[in-house]
Amino acid sequence: MQVFKFGGASVKDAAGVRNIARIIKEERSDHLLVVVSAMGKTTNALEDLVWSYYQKTPDVKAVWDRIRAYHEQIMQELGSTGKGAYEAVYESFKAIEDYLAQEPGYNPDKVYDHLVSYGELLSTQIVNAYLNMAGLDSYLVDARRLIRTDDGYREAKVDWDQTCEYITDTLAELLQTNVIVTQGFIGSTREGYTTTLGREGSDYTAAIFAYCLDADGVTIWKDVPGVLNADPKWFDETVKIEKLTYQDAIELAYYGATVIHPKTIKPLQNKGIPLYVRSFLKPGEPGTTIGQFERHLPVPSFIFKINQILISLHPKDFSFIAEDNLSRIFGLFATYGVKTNLMQNTAISFTVVVDNQPERLGRLLPRLQEDFKLSYNEDLELITIRYYDQVTIDRVLVNKKLLLEQKSRYTVQLVVKDLG
Ligand code: ASP
Ligand code: MG
Repeated sequence: MQVFKFGGASVKDAAGVRNIARIIKEERSDHLLVVVSAMGKTTNALEDLVWSYYQKTPDVKAVWDRIRAYHEQIMQELGSTGKGAYEAVYESFKAIEDYLAQEPGYNPDKVYDHLVSYGELLSTQIVNAYLNMAGLDSYLVDARRLIRTDDGYREAKVDWDQTCEYITDTLAELLQTNVIVTQGFIGSTREGYTTTLGREGSDYTAAIFAYCLDADGVTIWKDVPGVLNADPKWFDETVKIEKLTYQDAIELAYYGATVIHPKTIKPLQNKGIPLYVRSFLKPGEPGTTIGQFERHLPVPSFIFKINQILISLHPKDFSFIAEDNLSRIFGLFATYGVKTNLMQNTAISFTVVVDNQPERLGRLLPRLQEDFKLSYNEDLELITIRYYDQVTIDRVLVNKKLLLEQKSRYTVQLVVKDLG
């Protein structure tokens, strides 16, 4: 069987939904499960809704009305063959409106998951209705019934054994007769509360289903022709990579390449399931295959992160940066959910580069200041090059001031200040 995953950009309007119906019809060669994300930028809009609702700002209704109108517009453009075609969608609208009429619960992350998950629920309800109208025997399955997680709201961890049991029990037979449509990104706890797997987590959902069902392949349909060696947003000349090893894919995702969610590769690698990244705009083209290959990347790959902060810590008592200091530092970073993009230490200093997330850093830094003298440097860029050579390093350093460089055998990371 095969798993297809369609992200938000592929279903951002009625034309997008029609296009994915066409792709499913043409590309389906086998039993098929389709994972779909929220439409367009709906998740961001729902995040705004959560904060407005939680802080009881006066714009709650206006924010919600825009989200509702956006989905209604798409349904209207898709047309309908019967009155009840979008019944599930209107039930969801009502459930959201009822929820918003209540007092918010005390745990904001739980409220977040409950509301934000509607992005995927609405999207799949619309897509499934349309696929049926388009003559496909599609069947909508609620991923929350299958993906069992812990209660780490907003970044929930999957209980693999339970999840695989639910998935195989529920889907093995259905797949023989229907195209299954389900939501990316969402799951639920043992008590039945909705959880999410972390932003952009739909790729990961596709990998979970593929793993549990022993899929023959996963295809992620994107608005790019495949995995490129650099983000066209930052680089003029990019090259499409035809074949990518699991290991290179994990490394690239880890350093911040946004093409695949970092958690996606491991389950696929563990079962040797190939991952295809293809263009929903040009479905005729082959895209990129990620799998078990001998050869590594044929060209250097670049990952570019802006808005980085370099923070240096010096123990106030002049003690060495050794195990006890390091474990305290890492403990605090983990507690406040600040991910380090690069780190380096000397005898009495520890340097990290992190994304500038004012809210989290605002809580972390004062704690660090209890024991360490801090200095920092803002507005930096972090450039990671996998399979670097001196020529590529020199090229990216044009007009930049180099603050820190870290090389391993295959990867170099450069922290730079743009000189404008
Ligand atoms: N809709 C979710 C997000 O935007 C999940 C995903 O798109 O993968 O983060
Ligand atoms: Mg997305």
